[in-house]
Amino acid sequence: MSRRVLITGGSRGIGAASAKLGGAQGWSVGVNYLSNETAAGDVVEAVKLAGGRAVAIQADAAVEAEIVAMFDQMAEAFGGIDGVVINAGVLDERMPLAEMDADRIRRIVDVNVTGALLTAREAARRMSLGKGGQGGAIVIVSSAAARLGGAGEYVDYAASKGAMDALTLGLSKELGPEGVRVNAIRPGLIETDIHASSGWPQRAQELGKSVPLQRAGTAEETAEAICWLLSDASSYVNGALLDVTGGR
Ligand code: NAP
Repeated sequence: MSRRVLITGGSRGIGAASAKLGGAQGWSVGVNYLSNETAAGDVVEAVKLAGGRAVAIQADAAVEAEIVAMFDQMAEAFGGIDGVVINAGVLDERMPLAEMDADRIRRIVDVNVTGALLTAREAARRMSLGKGGQGGAIVIVSSAAARLGGAGEYVDYAASKGAMDALTLGLSKELGPEGVRVNAIRPGLIETDIHASSGWPQRAQELGKSVPLQRAGTAEETAEAICWLLSDASSYVNGALLDVTGGR
């Protein structure tokens, strides 16, 4: 099975691991990044080495015109698209809501919610059978924070991920008849760079000890769930919120 998959935030962490795993399955991958061109270039090379095709696509996944241009570049590179991973997401310093300023809250909502909605909208326009698309699968990267709440650390982020769960439930019903499956994964404590933005780079390793599986997860383990949801192996899974948390 071949897949042409766009991954927002594909240059590092969970997105990068998903791109590489897709490459190993012979997929064509659009590796979106915001500013780390070197990291995106390394992922592109790794996908090619693994047996897939790949292009790096610079775009701010929170800006409408750049999102539209990103999908145009996918079409130019691979002749179409049948998979999207809505993965770009940001976190900010740990603090209670009472201490957060409006700029921070707006940035979290801009990238994690508005950007995700616009990316999902563009995917719906390009992939729906009724709009000339070829169907496919969308995977939305939510978080266990959507059900845990992020108290004292980042309820803004948790709330933004709650929106991803609702988006998944609604869009899966809109797009099922259009040949597009929509599912979410909700990762728990995964070892990536994102924890540094909260001011606690070792957060996943340290809190990982309290998880039933007694450790943090890896980006590669998370990518396995994403690529399964993109693939035909999950052909009857739609509207699911899949926890990848080690039982947390
Ligand atoms: P990460 O290692 O910090 O990587 C973030 C990626 O997103 C990078 O590729 C970055 O690009 C890109 N990015 C950030 N803002 C962007 C924007 N505005 N436009 C385009 N790309 C942007 O993060 P991660 O841990 O892999 O997280 C990926 C997703 O998983 C996020 O949605 C996150 O909320 C979710 N998640 C993570 C965990 C965890 O424990 N790690 C748990 C639950 C959910 P550059 O390289 O150019 O900066």
